[in-house]
Amino acid sequence: MEKEFVCDKCGLCCRNLQLSCLYDDLNRGDGICKHLDLATNLCRIYTQRPIKCNVNMGYMLFKDSMTIEEYYINNYEFCKWLKRKSRGL
Ligand code: SF4
Ligand code: SF4
Repeated sequence: MEKEFVCDKCGLCCRNLQLSCLYDDLNRGDGICKHLDLATNLCRIYTQRPIKCNVNMGYMLFKDSMTIEEYYINNYEFCKWLKRKSRGL
């Protein structure tokens, strides 16, 4: 297991904020984050993004309920699910 979460920058999590009310403040109304650069698929505030958008730092919110390994597995599973969903699978 990697020591840091590996993101392939697909941008799908930033385009599906409707899946969690935790991201309502970032959702521009159609599920897409107001900080996402639509041309590059990258976050325009990446270095200042909220902890809830930073998988590695976000573990502090879950450290009492799961191990870091479980946390990464859950995140990778969510990424895979989003990719399947985007392909209509
Ligand atoms: S869905 Fe996963 S792989 Fe894609 S940008 Fe988000 S965290 Fe990275
Ligand atoms: S702030 Fe950045 S990382 Fe967070 S959802 Fe928006 S574009 Fe994605």
